Amino acid sequence: MNFVSEALNLSKFSTERLEERGILKRAFLKHPFFSDIIDAFRLEKKFGIFEEGTVIVKSKHGVKVLRGFPKIRRILYLESGLKKHFGDKRIALEEKMNGYNVRIAKIGEEIYAITRRGLICPYTTEMAREKIPMDFFKEFPEHMLCCEAVGNASPYVPDYYGIDGLDFYLFDIRECRSNRPLSIHEKKEIAERYGIKMVEILLETSANDTESIKKVLEDLNERGREGIVFKEIQMLLPPLKYTTSFSNCGDLSYAFRNFEEYGRDFMLARIIREAFQGFEFRDSLDERAYRLGKAILSSAIESISRVSEGKEVTEEVRLIFSSEEVLELFKMHMKLLGITLRETDRRKKGDKIEARFERVMRATTDKIKSLLEGNPW
Ligand code: ATP
Ligand code: MG
Repeated sequence: MNFVSEALNLSKFSTERLEERGILKRAFLKHPFFSDIIDAFRLEKKFGIFEEGTVIVKSKHGVKVLRGFPKIRRILYLESGLKKHFGDKRIALEEKMNGYNVRIAKIGEEIYAITRRGLICPYTTEMAREKIPMDFFKEFPEHMLCCEAVGNASPYVPDYYGIDGLDFYLFDIRECRSNRPLSIHEKKEIAERYGIKMVEILLETSANDTESIKKVLEDLNERGREGIVFKEIQMLLPPLKYTTSFSNCGDLSYAFRNFEEYGRDFMLARIIREAFQGFEFRDSLDERAYRLGKAILSSAIESISRVSEGKEVTEEVRLIFSSEEVLELFKMHMKLLGITLRETDRRKKGDKIEARFERVMRATTDKIKSLLEGNPW
């Protein structure tokens, strides 16, 4: 723990207090697969300048601080929101992809992948070692690649893109210790040079170009994409995000399918986003209302119908491992996250292992069951 105090510039006493209060937690499971890591801690909450998900790692090569990926604020009204935030600066519209946030860095001799809350994930680490060229870290040893992990072999988010396996789409390159991002153009040049996949830059424009921006959004919506992250091209201002109706309704559909697992706030926020978008885009209210209503009702009814047939409300994931060892480690990792996964199948696929897991939505299943038995809400 001493290395944490030193790295964060805290007294030993303050560091101990952080741990007692549950803010400082272990960031990994000790295992030969993480052979470079002697010890690692993460911040469960923002603390001073350190973002939630900040990781402090001690390896054979010394101590490294990897800052958490900063929260991106959302605007609900494009017209005034963009001008107010960016003024007359040039901005890039990047596609906001819907997967999970991963920071990829070199620790000791190897590549490691850290998820949003600061856990070193064995599954994602294994995939990153396959997909990310080590050469990048020879040139940038103190930087991390901030990527969205997407595909049909994702443990955390279903696939929207028809990607087989798991791919990493770069959206930021940041210095680990300071969290300082490279500019949009530097990032693009580096991604191309190293053959790292990058989120698409949809448009470069200024904040008052609302007409073109709205067109980009309509196009994304028609293509079933999540939304936009707006970034000042030098990356000197914090970015903003905005999502499509497709995404808002998709989230609602998911939330209502598993309505006891998802909070009321989660649902309300997405309905209000749709209301602001309906106001700003002045498109057909009937279509929007139908889409939203259907998203909510059809998935909830589906869950009720499943339980009425004696089944459980579940979600299936199919993952690909290169060894039994990492598979077992991943299962322990999920336990650590408090996610109950049931392994339903395991088979050899060439030199890989394909495993299927089922996540039971216990609270929703039980609630529906009780209501179907005639108990009051
Ligand atoms: P946040 O705290 O960042 O708002 P959240 O869990 O609410 O997190 P989202 O609404 O998905 O997340 O929006 C932010 C996330 O979007 C980022 O953490 C990142 O993982 C993801 N993302 C996808 N594409 C991009 C992109 N082009 N630029 C930045 N982030 C992106
Ligand atoms: Mg997301």
